Amino acid sequence: MTLNSTIPKLGARNTKQRTAVVEVLRDMDKFASVKEIFGELQQRKEKVGLTTVYRTLQSLAEIDAVDALHMPGGETLYRHCDSEKHHHHLVCTQCGKTKEIDGGPIESWAKQIASQHGFELTGHDAEVFGVCPDCRG
Ligand SMILES: [Zn+2]
Ligand SMILES: [Zn+2]
Ligand SMILES: [Zn+2]
Repeated sequence: MTLNSTIPKLGARNTKQRTAVVEVLRDMDKFASVKEIFGELQQRKEKVGLTTVYRTLQSLAEIDAVDALHMPGGETLYRHCDSEKHHHHLVCTQCGKTKEIDGGPIESWAKQIASQHGFELTGHDAEVFGVCPDCRG
């Protein structure tokens, strides 16, 4: 997958800033907070304000160009994933290393539980947290 394949659907406006944000995310290759991403952009001398970074990440997440991870503390982390297909994440709580994993039985369970309650399923969210082999020493 090339970067260009994700850019056209973003529209022409602010494309430069969005491209800079996506590039940083690709290089970081882990779930990062908005502040971490902003800090990296500053190091690269990109002229992007913190508010713009917030908005850019939100709109990228809306179109599934990046994945958002909602932490129990209320913070949202972002990552650019290799897989364009629907997937879930196994996240190391120590170093942030992330594996893209299959939802497995969650996929049919979500459909089933929604229809049982008369809901039309629009989405589901499930992430798995742990400590990776490297961090376990
Ligand atoms: Zn992902
Ligand atoms: Zn780790
Ligand atoms: Zn799923």
